[in-house]
Amino acid sequence: HGRFGPCEVQYRHQQGHLVNLVFSGVQVTDAQRRRFLWLNVQDVTSYRALERELRLAANQDRLTGMANRTLLLRELQALVEQAQGDGGTPFAVLFLDLDRFKLVNDTLGHDAGDELLCGIAGRLRNVAQASAANTADVAAPWLAARLGGDEFVLLVPGVADEAAACRVAQHLQAVLAAPYSVRQQSIHSSASIGIALWQGDGASAEALLRDADIAMYEAKRRGRGNFVVYDQAMRARLTRAMQLEGELRHAVSRQQLQVAYQPIVDLETGLMSAVEALLRWTHPTLGAVPPAEFIPLAEESGQIVALGEWVLRQSCLQWAAWQQQHGAAAPAMVSVNLSRVQLAVGPRLLETVQAALAAATMPPAALQLEITEREVMKDPAAARALMLALAGLGVRLAMDDFGTGTSSLACLRDYPFHTIKIHRSFVTGLSQDPHVLAVAHATVSVIENLGMASVAEGIEDPSEVATLQALGCRYGQGLWFAPAVPADQVMGALARHAAG
Ligand code: C2E
Ligand code: CA
Ligand code: CA
Repeated sequence: HGRFGPCEVQYRHQQGHLVNLVFSGVQVTDAQRRRFLWLNVQDVTSYRALERELRLAANQDRLTGMANRTLLLRELQALVEQAQGDGGTPFAVLFLDLDRFKLVNDTLGHDAGDELLCGIAGRLRNVAQASAANTADVAAPWLAARLGGDEFVLLVPGVADEAAACRVAQHLQAVLAAPYSVRQQSIHSSASIGIALWQGDGASAEALLRDADIAMYEAKRRGRGNFVVYDQAMRARLTRAMQLEGELRHAVSRQQLQVAYQPIVDLETGLMSAVEALLRWTHPTLGAVPPAEFIPLAEESGQIVALGEWVLRQSCLQWAAWQQQHGAAAPAMVSVNLSRVQLAVGPRLLETVQAALAAATMPPAALQLEITEREVMKDPAAARALMLALAGLGVRLAMDDFGTGTSSLACLRDYPFHTIKIHRSFVTGLSQDPHVLAVAHATVSVIENLGMASVAEGIEDPSEVATLQALGCRYGQGLWFAPAVPADQVMGALARHAAG
């Protein structure tokens, strides 16, 4: 047809390498009616190489050379389609997030961080390759991908149930746990893993990846180095958690927060000796959100520092207001809960406490701060230093929820506690279980012998009051006396016992 090409042909060059040539030609006829072929030959080798690199880059993570998100989603999509069709295999998506990776970056630098990521990528690739050798007869090979940052994903075809997926996760964690050599240093790393299983329910590739991500988040919440299999309730929980966390940011300014006060009663006289400040959140549409739900969220997001300062200020001002209105009848002391996150910002906490006391012209001894046993035991030395500083201000310290952690009675005297609050699980068991009674008896004796005050929490009926009195427990708190009530009801809160 008078034309030729373009057509690309690959030749081997004299020197051995391959070259790509594109030919195109036109037929020309000269004055003598002779026909020629005018041929154009172009060497496109470097162009093709660049093209290949670009294609690779679009599918490959630059740092580790692993598959990237694009390629992962494409492979995941292919697995979904296969699984939906006849003879497809079930599969699992494992979402890995390194624990404390930021710490490596922050302390050793980004280059060291990159090195660690490459080390981890290498191990994941090895696992994937080993599996390809072992399970070639069963299913497609595994795919290891990096999504960015310290997030990796493993696609594991041929995993039929949770137990099998958990075995894979366990194996991965074992493989990743061996120390890494980074910049002549040996560092340890662990990963939290979320698992989503193909359920045959037509979930899309994106949905599976998101589910695995949600499960990973849950694994992190349960403590590092865990793995969790996704379930439906998890998504609902996470959605609510994220909603609450967002709403909580406006709770103070929208005046949805209130401090309620629960009387702490002198078991001998039956009079109110103190109150515990307990935060309450009433959301206009969500209703009353329990502290056990929103306090942990506030701790995770760091909001607890500001919230805790607000509670502290409110409580001190309220104490002063009661004093002014009711004089000697007012609660002598207000006890405020501290979160571990507040303890972690030590110097700021000291300032906050001083400022709250000053704003209310409140004597330090009228303020008590409650710290749970578990938090004290997490970092005993740091907790002790901060507590000594707080005690130095003259405020009182209470160990909260005693009996739920692992500390022994013997270590009580190593900390400057004035008060020990005995967890309600002891109180509840008092009348039924002689063993609990014996333990409670010993506990109260040791506390009182160390010169500290014992407070029993969660007293719900009068028989418990009698038993605790007999054991020598000095103070009590619980629904039997009064629930936590708004500030203006505190003075009348014990009325039903005054009458009885
Ligand atoms: P907690 O410090 O152990 O507080 C005692 C909890 O037991 C309160 O629950 C209280 O209402 C409840 N309670 C009182 N008497 C009884 C009883 O007789 N029986 C039973 N079953 N429960 C009783 P609440 O108010 O829901 O608070 C739960 C937790 O939330 C608190 O446990 C505390 O750890 C935390 N929290 C509450 N307010 C604050 C706060 O302002 N700051 C911090 N950091 N944590 C707070
Ligand atoms: Ca408490
Ligand atoms: Ca408690």
